[in-house]
Amino acid sequence: MRANGTLVVVGGGVCGLLHALAGRRGGWRVVQLERGSGPTGATPWAFGLIGVAGGVLGADPALLVRGRAAWRALASEVPGLGVRDDGVLAVATDDAGLARLEALEGADPEALVVGAIGVREANGALRGTIAGALHHPGDAVADPLRLLGGLRALLEADDGYAYVADSAVTFADGWHGEGSAHAEAADRVVLCTGRPPVADGVPELLVQGVVTAPWGERLATGVVHVADGVALVMVQRAGGELVVADATPRDATREEAPRGFLRAAAESLLGGPLPPVRRRWAAPLETPLAARAVVREELAPGIWRVGLGGLGGLTLAPLAAAETIGRL
Ligand SMILES: Cc1cc2nc3c(=O)[nH]c(=O)nc-3n(C[C@H](O)[C@H](O)[C@H](O)COP(=O)(O)OP(=O)(O)OC[C@H]3O[C@@H](n4cnc5c(N)ncnc54)[C@H](O)[C@@H]3O)c2cc1C
Repeated sequence: MRANGTLVVVGGGVCGLLHALAGRRGGWRVVQLERGSGPTGATPWAFGLIGVAGGVLGADPALLVRGRAAWRALASEVPGLGVRDDGVLAVATDDAGLARLEALEGADPEALVVGAIGVREANGALRGTIAGALHHPGDAVADPLRLLGGLRALLEADDGYAYVADSAVTFADGWHGEGSAHAEAADRVVLCTGRPPVADGVPELLVQGVVTAPWGERLATGVVHVADGVALVMVQRAGGELVVADATPRDATREEAPRGFLRAAAESLLGGPLPPVRRRWAAPLETPLAARAVVREELAPGIWRVGLGGLGGLTLAPLAAAETIGRL
């Protein structure tokens, strides 16, 4: 490794920021280039679950457990990241659902199946009809914007780091874009420019979500509920807003359908009304390539591309960064 050489990291999402941090810790001067004024990709839209979450995040559970441990270590060192060790309840509304969750219990060494009383003890805001849950007390919930801001603040306090906004750069038979001069002068470049290319025929998920006005209560854990092929996620942002989203195989009928089902599903778990909805969004997402949720390739000597696929990419980002920097 050329300690004190210059590493250029392209992309200002969680992948880029954690590569920048790992690069600094590995002795590189780091210049980070972002095509927008701030991150424009998937990270700001992430639910913010860090962990294993009852199988919802899709990637190899053993990797997710390691990613969770890496975040825990980083969060205890940097409190400003706002990673809350709330835990996540993967809830079931009937016995068949609970049996499916029991089968996932072994994938997370800290997870425990609990009945309805255990659910209320972990999260008193869940007053709907819930048969039980797989409780992942070691999972964390983060507000992605706060996480990105905390990582940026940590890096900006370091003289060996520079962030260059509005600076797109692409690599195809040489460097192109506003950031080319930085990339050309670098000793190493890591491209963290968003979701990895996926093979033809990989099915798409449609992820749809709503963000409510701040809620007067605290949602003490993250919540996931998988039923009939639909994965519902409910988390609370630092300002009290609830994010309710679901991921389902992409299908035109559903895309055109009104999103009242998100409200109905959330209200049936809360056993009461959801606050007014302030924002709605929908995005297609290729399903993760399970164990290959981190895709890394060396495009040319010293030029790497790293992509975090699917719904577990946030959790896996610290592992991906450590591994890439170790290979430079
Ligand atoms: C709806 C949704 C919910 C999710 N929820 C979770 C979750 O709860 N837990 C979890 O573990 N994972 C989750 N994920 C996955 C996770 O969010 C992603 O894997 C992760 O955020 C990807 O980060 P990234 O930095 O690789 O990409 P991005 O966040 O997409 O960042 C890429 C950045 O690169 C910049 N860029 C692109 N091209 C260029 C260029 N040519 N030059 C300069 N800059 C460029 C973009 O502007 C962007 O800012 C979720 C994903 C989605 C879509």
